[in-house]
Amino acid sequence: MSRSDGPLPPGSVIGILGGGQLGRMLALAAARLGMKTHIYCPDPQSPAFDVTPRKTVADYDDEPSLAAFAAAVDVVTYEFENVPAAAAAFLAKRKPLRPGANALAVAQDRLAEKAFLTINRIPVAPFAAIPDAGVLASELREIGLPAVLKTTRLGYDGKGQRTIRKRSDAAAAFAALAPKPLVLEAFVAFEKEISVVVARGLDGKTAAFEPAENTHRDHILKESRVPARVSSKTASKAVETATAIAKALDYVGVLGVEFFLSKRGKLLVNEIAPRVHNSGHWTEAVSITDQFEQHIRAICGWPLGDPSRLADVVMENLIGDEVLAVPQALKRRSRPQLYGKAESRPGRKMGHVNRIGAKTGPK
Ligand code: AMP
Repeated sequence: MSRSDGPLPPGSVIGILGGGQLGRMLALAAARLGMKTHIYCPDPQSPAFDVTPRKTVADYDDEPSLAAFAAAVDVVTYEFENVPAAAAAFLAKRKPLRPGANALAVAQDRLAEKAFLTINRIPVAPFAAIPDAGVLASELREIGLPAVLKTTRLGYDGKGQRTIRKRSDAAAAFAALAPKPLVLEAFVAFEKEISVVVARGLDGKTAAFEPAENTHRDHILKESRVPARVSSKTASKAVETATAIAKALDYVGVLGVEFFLSKRGKLLVNEIAPRVHNSGHWTEAVSITDQFEQHIRAICGWPLGDPSRLADVVMENLIGDEVLAVPQALKRRSRPQLYGKAESRPGRKMGHVNRIGAKTGPK
C-alpha cells in the first residue's frame, strides 16, 4: 500500500508492537473506531493483551512470528521506541510501518537525535559523544559543570544516566555506564519541563495538543498540568518546534516532544518519543480527540481530529501501590485509567487519574 492509497476501512487490523499500557490504550481507541488490533509482545503478561482480540507472544527477532504477524495485519505501529531496527526493517518490507523506521532510528539514539535536531536548527543543550574517559575529562572542561552523562540508547525514567557535579564524580559516572556508547550533556538549570504531543497525518496535515507542564518524582513523570503555566509565546514556540520535528521526520502518527524551559525563557528539546506519550494522557479526559484516537486516525490514513481542549486538567500518574487507593480516593470530576497490571512494584506505572477542572482557556 502506498501513501496515495485511501484510508483503511473499519474492520482493518492494526498491528501494534509492544503490549504495555500505551499499547493497551491504543487498542481501546482502535476498537472505538471499529478496528481490530493484533498486539505483538514477548511478555505473556502484557497489560494490552486484556483488551485486544488478537495477539502474538514472541520475541522481536523471531522472523517466522514477525512474518505471520505482518501477513495478518494491514498496518504496523509501535508503542515503544526501542523496537529493534531489524524487526522494524523486516516488517516495513511487508506492511506500512507508521511512524517509519527513520523516526525510530532517530529517537532510539540520543546522539542521532541531537544531531538530527541540530541539523534542523532546533536548540538542544550542548552535548558531546564520549568514547572514553579522556574525552569525558576534556568535554567536561568544554561543556562545564554540572553535566549529565547518559547512555545513548535504552535509557528511560532516569535510568542510564549520572549527573556529574564535580570533576571527582567523573570517573565513577563513567565506570557505572561504560562500555555502552555515551553522550555528555550540559546540565540545564530549567525553570520548568513542558512537552507537546503533535500528530501528523498521512496527508501531511498536523494537529498539536497544547503544551503540558510536567513534574517528575524520582525521575518518573508524576504530574502533567494543562494549561502549562508559561507565556503564550513559549507555548506557541513549543508547538511550532514539535510540528517542525514531525515534518522534518516525514512523520505519520503521534509524536511526543519534551522540552526544558530555561530560566532565561529559552526552549531546549530534551528528547523526542515516536509514539503516544505519558504527558499526553490528559487528552483522553478533556480533548475533543485524544492522543490515542489521533494516532489510530493518522496511521490509518483518516483525517486528524480536533485537538481542542474543553477544560483544564491535571493528570497524575499512579506509581506502585498508589493505585490501591483509587476506589476510596476518587473524586467526582476525576477520570481513572488503570492498566490492569498484575503486580505493583515500586516505580512501576500502574495507572493515572485525570482531575478535570473548569475551562480557563489557553493563556
Ligand atoms: P531523560 O531520560 O533524558 O528524559 O531524563 C529524565 C529527566 O532527568 C528529565 O526529565 C530531567 O528532569 C532530568 N534531566 C535529564 N537531562 C538533563 C539535563 N541535561 N539537564 C537537567 N536535567 C536533566
